[in-house]
Amino acid sequence: MSQKSSNKDKLLMIQKKGKYNMLNIKLVIIGHSDRVVNFDLIKKYKSKFFNFLDIERINHLPNPVKDDGYLDIVYSKTEIQRIMNDIEYDGLSIAIMNYGFNDNFYMHRVGTNKVCISIYGLESILSEKKISIENFIIKNVYEIFIFNQLKILNDEDENEFLHSDTRGCLFDMNGDKRDIVYNTEKPIICDECKGKINNKLIPKNFLEDIQGELLKIDKPFIKKIENFISKYPLFSVLVTFFFSTLINLFSNWLWEMIK
Ligand SMILES: [Zn+2]
Repeated sequence: MSQKSSNKDKLLMIQKKGKYNMLNIKLVIIGHSDRVVNFDLIKKYKSKFFNFLDIERINHLPNPVKDDGYLDIVYSKTEIQRIMNDIEYDGLSIAIMNYGFNDNFYMHRVGTNKVCISIYGLESILSEKKISIENFIIKNVYEIFIFNQLKILNDEDENEFLHSDTRGCLFDMNGDKRDIVYNTEKPIICDECKGKINNKLIPKNFLEDIQGELLKIDKPFIKKIENFISKYPLFSVLVTFFFSTLINLFSNWLWEMIK
């Protein structure tokens, strides 16, 4: 390889490496959501688009305004805006709380660079399909990241972008919260959403690179096996029986050979 072409390759590599401006994210633990979410696991997540650099806590919370006699803690978007008011960060701040929003949504943009995700009640929905809450949060980070890239920076415009029918797409509205199980693991970007994204000014191969990373949002292999066993218990027992018989026959044969 000539010196000239090797320099050109190096230049190409540098350009490719720096293709996307890394978005720095600060995770904000509101209350005690770290009892449910493994923030260390999220912090270790690797993406070519964003990285989780900081974690901050907000422990002292005001009493919720809601006064309906029920004891559950529910905040409005405005209350969360106030709670996150002092958070300043040169990047994106994503807060996670284990309390509900009073309008039953699970995510709100509470500032141009501030988002709050409510995981209240979602753990039981996700655990039925053995989907981790950490994957649910990471999936939402991709959604927020793409909105940032498209300069869609408020709830109204975001909701207009989302579609109310469930397609397993990153931009499903999930009006029925139970639908989150269909677009948390390996979410797709449906043709309609691809069209809308391609209309905006985005880096070359942006969608391909994003989709490559979305495919990696999946449960660990061991969870897949557990899932399979709970889904097909009889088949699993038969397979176990078949293999244990096979191992038994093989060891008998081996023993005879040694003798
Ligand atoms: Zn879509």
